Amino acid sequence: MMFRLGRSLYVAVRGLNGVVRPENIKKVVRNLSCTTSLMADKFKLPARYGAGEKSVWVEYIQLAAEIKPAVNLGQGFPDYHAPKHVTKALGDIATGPNPLLNQYTRGFGHPPLIQNLSKLYSPLIGREINPQNEILVTFGAYEALYSAILGHVDEGDEVIVIEPFFDCYDFMIKSAGGKPRFIALCPTKTSGEITSADWVLDEKELESLFNPRTKMIIVNTPHNPLGKVFTQQELELIANLCKKHNVLCLSDEVYEWMAYEPVKHIRIASFPGMWERTITIGSAGKTFSVTGWKTGWAYAPAALMRNLHVVHQNCVYTCCTPVQEAISRSFDYELARRDSPECYLTALACELRPKRDFVIKSLRENGFNPTVPEAGYFIIADWTNLADKIDLSSEPDKYKDYQFTKKFAKETGVLAIPPTAFYSQEHKHLGENFARFCFIKKDENLQLAGKLIKEWNAKNKKACV
Ligand code: PMP
Ligand code: GLN
Repeated sequence: MMFRLGRSLYVAVRGLNGVVRPENIKKVVRNLSCTTSLMADKFKLPARYGAGEKSVWVEYIQLAAEIKPAVNLGQGFPDYHAPKHVTKALGDIATGPNPLLNQYTRGFGHPPLIQNLSKLYSPLIGREINPQNEILVTFGAYEALYSAILGHVDEGDEVIVIEPFFDCYDFMIKSAGGKPRFIALCPTKTSGEITSADWVLDEKELESLFNPRTKMIIVNTPHNPLGKVFTQQELELIANLCKKHNVLCLSDEVYEWMAYEPVKHIRIASFPGMWERTITIGSAGKTFSVTGWKTGWAYAPAALMRNLHVVHQNCVYTCCTPVQEAISRSFDYELARRDSPECYLTALACELRPKRDFVIKSLRENGFNPTVPEAGYFIIADWTNLADKIDLSSEPDKYKDYQFTKKFAKETGVLAIPPTAFYSQEHKHLGENFARFCFIKKDENLQLAGKLIKEWNAKNKKACV
């Protein structure tokens, strides 16, 4: 192919007698640029995908590969092993006696896994969830979000999104032809000890967003990146508005097992009149600390689930069988000890709590003002008290949190995520003073991060004197 292209260019420039002619060069360049621009025009990104900027994950994972931070507290994943029985199950299945466990399984979810999901969630929702038509196993919670949004949002529909929000919501809504309507959680205080409960919605503003075009509201509780657990009262307000305006609730609950006592995670699908209009999403990656297994699920009444099935059956059809079988066996194991404090669904938050407290203390000692999360494994921390210690002028990014996280990673070796990625264009300024730190990391790595930040701080203190 290259040879043929090279040969025709050669002939076009030199002519058949091999003599280079300037007018031929001009003609070839003109034709080439015309073809390139025609191609660029025809093959440009479809408008429904917006400008096609890199997502923060693509950018920061690439950044981590380039700068090799000593401690990566960016993307949310554990840097240590999942429970032994979980990883062992996958190994056993892949090489075990049943060859069919390495082949396709039922498209809407592997039979033993949907049975276990029904067993797990039915008592939590207060109704029997039909595993056959009310549960869908998906390629990570991402695909559950995708199937729910693409399956329900139509051209011109509005979707209420609470900021900060997990960044793909915006993209998915727009690619379905919908219009996101944003409302920001704002801190009620900016000094002293702040917890994620201090970040609240303005009730009147929320009410004002509901209108006849509203199809859906997305609620993420426990929340990424704030760690907020929506209270009974906050969820009741949302539920009442959904019922009043006939709106669906898409409840992203991937951090459901990580609420720190005494705070309790509450499922909006269990509220009176809400099962009928709620699609709830979970993730095995979060539940069993195996984010690379990319398996999630949605549960909802059959009438709503049908739309997710239509999307799923035509873009993914079926998820990885051995992984689903391993997750199912992991649930067998954990459900058998559900009432024991050792059950991973209970133990995970206990394991994470000292990590959270360590990072909060370390950030505070070094001039950050962190929000203490009530759940999950992220901490949002205000870095503006450190502004005079870090020269951001060499960082070309548009938003200060991008500048800060990049420069901070280069100077300290500790990488964090810029939270403006979780805000709409019009509200980016609300995230600029913060950085997001992930703390589901080995204690030694969290200690190293603390030490590196402390050393950087001390060095900069001296430099200022
Ligand atoms: N929702 C939220 C709020 C998340 O933080 C994530 C990231 N794990 C997802 C959904 C996607 O989860 P998964 O890795 O299972 O696709
Ligand atoms: N949910 C994880 C986080 O917020 C991972 C995101 C991703 O990989 N896209 O860090």
